[in-house]
Amino acid sequence: MSEDCIFCQIVDGEIPGRVVYEDDDVLAFLDANPMAPGHTLVVPKAHHETLGDLPEADGSAVFAALHRLAPLVEDAVDADASTVAFNNGEAAGQEIPHVHGHVIPRFEGDGGGPIHVVAGSRPDLSDDELDAIAEDVANRVE
Ligand code: 5GP
Ligand code: ZN
Repeated sequence: MSEDCIFCQIVDGEIPGRVVYEDDDVLAFLDANPMAPGHTLVVPKAHHETLGDLPEADGSAVFAALHRLAPLVEDAVDADASTVAFNNGEAAGQEIPHVHGHVIPRFEGDGGGPIHVVAGSRPDLSDDELDAIAEDVANRVE
């Protein structure tokens, strides 16, 4: 628990949330300023800022909840699809520093875009540069 964290306060019941799912490790509740009807946030109960900070067991629990909830949220608001994503770190637009996955219901013709639009213009990378990046990431996997 982080004293001044809004999501920790929702987990602890200190401030209200429209809770849609709870288990030992995860809480899911409606976003207070939704991008679409049914916009849901899935958070680990433990306070961690980014996915990289999150212990593997909490990450698995969050993904299991997202996996279970995404189709149920879509059904509840009669959506055609959903965007499921994390703003992972401040530079990526994360405003609340407590890991949370967004389930944003999507509708045909809703005027939104795919997640490809979030990173600005595409970099022009050569095959050699792509090979080097792939090798670098692979070498970091334990
Ligand atoms: P972020 O930009 O950090 O990925 O998203 C934070 C989300 O939390 C935003 O979509 C915002 O509307 C939502 N939010 C901020 N404060 C509250 C709150 O007090 N309660 C709930 N339910 N959602 C909140
Ligand atoms: Zn927190």
